[in-house]
Amino acid sequence: MRFQDIPGHDEIKRHLARLAVGGRLSHAILFTGSAGSGHYSLALALAQYLQCQSPQGEDSCGVCPACHQASGLVHPDIHFVFPVARTAKISGDPVSDNFLPEWRNYLQINPYPSLNDWTSAMGIENKQAGIFAGESESLLKKMSFKPFESDFKVVIFWLPEMMNPAAANKLLKLIEEPADFTVFLFVSEQPDLILPTILSRTQPVKVPGISNEALKARLAYDFPDAGAELETVTRIARGDYLKARDRLTHREQDVYFREKLIEWLRMAYGLKVLELRGWIDEISDLVREKQKAFLIYAIRTLRGNFMLNRGLDELVAFDPEEQAFSLRFRRFIHEGNIRLLYEELSLAITQISLNANSRILFTDLSLKLHELLKIPAQE
Ligand SMILES: [Zn+2]
Repeated sequence: MRFQDIPGHDEIKRHLARLAVGGRLSHAILFTGSAGSGHYSLALALAQYLQCQSPQGEDSCGVCPACHQASGLVHPDIHFVFPVARTAKISGDPVSDNFLPEWRNYLQINPYPSLNDWTSAMGIENKQAGIFAGESESLLKKMSFKPFESDFKVVIFWLPEMMNPAAANKLLKLIEEPADFTVFLFVSEQPDLILPTILSRTQPVKVPGISNEALKARLAYDFPDAGAELETVTRIARGDYLKARDRLTHREQDVYFREKLIEWLRMAYGLKVLELRGWIDEISDLVREKQKAFLIYAIRTLRGNFMLNRGLDELVAFDPEEQAFSLRFRRFIHEGNIRLLYEELSLAITQISLNANSRILFTDLSLKLHELLKIPAQE
């Protein structure tokens, strides 16, 4: 990652590059800010800058072998520490190295790591993630060797606030008597929770939100289809890339749900069994939370169609595509079936929470949907 790949923060980038060039970089730097501020990316870019064999002014060159290794997250003198959890495979304290392949994969597509996101990528949502004493021991060992290929060993230490006291006390030794060739880049979201003895030995770099202009430009690049929504989302996100991304991807989810629901209603009404089978396979492969979100969306849409059928247009907030579909569809949703539809879909949501088999559930539900949509409206 180069500094120029990161949206905004021009002052901080310049400041870091100047410290590095002037040899005034502390052995321990502490980046603080929210996950969506891009502070982790700044640490990555600084690490690459320190390793780059031919820096171009205030940025790394991006093309030398060291830059290639750094951007591939495989530079032998850039080390990663991050929260991990115990699994059946690991005996004793789990350490970051146990999860390094997963971490690289994750980071390549998420340069704005967040703890929730990472623990679900690791598949350990339900376990306590942390940084354990074994991690500090492993670091002590690694830092006792000279760098392999460069002048510096860089450790990018994500969420030092998650160290348990044993880990923090062991780490303290490394920070109190740093070797000439080590640089710690701590990246924290809650610096108040870091042990004061560690905190006091770091050089702070406070990373604020990304400027609206820079955030909007990055979002326009990452979400070329976002169109007019960019303006609103940028304003709401207040400099937080992750907040903006979440908003825009929920929008993507809404579009997907709309398509799937229209297909489903059409196939179920016409009892198109072969087509339904493919549809059921696709929906059953979604994670359970998404299956539930889809059914909630279905309830909301059916209710909206019922309202429109009754002429209660002012109570319905459909987007233009939903509105267009509803023109043809609303006559099928009426007093004779709305309650039954609601009950069936709600029951399905409960059953998904109880780990029901999704394929069987959506098959039954499709047949039920067929029956209920065929109930004639009372005049
Ligand atoms: Zn380079």
